[in-house]
Amino acid sequence: MKTQATAITTTGRRSNNEDAFVVDHELGLFAVADGMGGYDGGEIASRLALDEVREFLRALRDDPEQTWPFSSDPALAPAENLVDQAIRLAHRAVIEARTHARPKMGTTIATVVRPDERGPFVVAHVGDSRVYRWRGGELTQLTRDHSFIEELRETGAIAPEEELPYLRNYITRALGVGGWSRPTVTRVDSRPGDRFLICTDGLTVLDERELARHLAARSSQVAAERLVDAALARGSMDNITALVIDVAA
Ligand code: CA
Repeated sequence: MKTQATAITTTGRRSNNEDAFVVDHELGLFAVADGMGGYDGGEIASRLALDEVREFLRALRDDPEQTWPFSSDPALAPAENLVDQAIRLAHRAVIEARTHARPKMGTTIATVVRPDERGPFVVAHVGDSRVYRWRGGELTQLTRDHSFIEELRETGAIAPEEELPYLRNYITRALGVGGWSRPTVTRVDSRPGDRFLICTDGLTVLDERELARHLAARSSQVAAERLVDAALARGSMDNITALVIDVAA
């Protein structure tokens, strides 16, 4: 059985959709991005970042001898380095595309990549787009937001469950913004029957219990539809994107 994946994005109550996604089975690439930056800047940034990642993975697959754009990180496995390089390239591309009209253009990114069909999945992100793994009803958040509120939690300044709604949108890393934004990259284990969810913050008006319940649906298609519908019904004021991946045997 092949890996199945379904992605749904919706503008929701906004006037334009700055979210974007990519599903590329050939490259084993699944990703979402949540753009920001006024006018059409957010839409450009999220699309550009995903295109850049895809192009780099494709170029490396076609010519594995190609030199890498940055020095590799010895602390990372080869597959992790590959994804790290792709996202750093995307960061550079968004910076280069910034103009006077769009000086605040930037984007988050969250990816699940399996460069080698028999190898591990690599999870990487910048910003507050998230990756979860659903396994037999249990949900695990695989990413920690690069956000001000998450930093406060990590330092113990606020309790883990405490929410500060006025800080909800403050992210501390984004592609194209703030000089240097390295992604956080990890390898994750997976089993047949697992589901990965990649989503933008428009979806996480739903809590983990609700996410888990909808991810139990019979197919990735139904799961993605129910997740987005539930976030809209909950009153999400943002663009909403859910990408659900079924890990095949
Ligand atoms: Ca958003």
